[in-house]
Amino acid sequence: ISFNSARFLVSAPRLQDCPPDTGTEVAFAGRSNAGKSSALNAITANSKLARTSKTPGRTRLINFFSLNREHARLVDLPGYGYAKVSRDIKDDWQKHLEDYLNDRQCLRGLVLVMDIRHPLTDFDQMMVEWCEYNQLPLMILATKADKLKFGQAKNSILDIGRRLEEYSCVQHLIMFSATSKRGVDDCRAALTNWLES
Ligand code: GDP
Repeated sequence: ISFNSARFLVSAPRLQDCPPDTGTEVAFAGRSNAGKSSALNAITANSKLARTSKTPGRTRLINFFSLNREHARLVDLPGYGYAKVSRDIKDDWQKHLEDYLNDRQCLRGLVLVMDIRHPLTDFDQMMVEWCEYNQLPLMILATKADKLKFGQAKNSILDIGRRLEEYSCVQHLIMFSATSKRGVDDCRAALTNWLES
């Protein structure tokens, strides 16, 4: 799989607007500002890729990116934790997100992006529980590692690992940085594995 060839495919407000449920997909989730867009850009070596997802009006959509292998896609899920939207909108998009996660047959795994300095927020924990319950393989990207000294970053990884010890869904826990590109190769290898399964 060539991640460099990723192209924006479509934005979907609802499950019924998603591309046909064939092939394989890996979805990226994370608290807004965690570094999800930057991680997607680093993985695809395309500094503009996830900008589409940041365009006002698109932040709450499910954004699909196609890869060179036919029917392999990366999916940018709406960032959670926006303070500025109303309760109604929150409920609405939460529902679309749930529909996607519950119904999507081609979903092979979830990548949960978290700031290495603020790991495992309540919502992150909820996503982990959801993956465990649904037996969906999970990859944790602990990003912005360049903001810590290596020893501190390592400790944070060990701590996250300990807190998630009992969860069998966690297949990969990667120290990551979109800035230094640390972890990009490991992440690509794991994604390739999932997308080819
Ligand atoms: P998103 O809301 O989760 O998509 O987060 P963004 O990718 O937009 O990143 C939020 C902020 O964190 C931006 O100012 C980024 O430049 C910064 N950021 C993201 N990843 C990294 C990283 O690996 N290292 C550093 N130093 N900053 C990062």
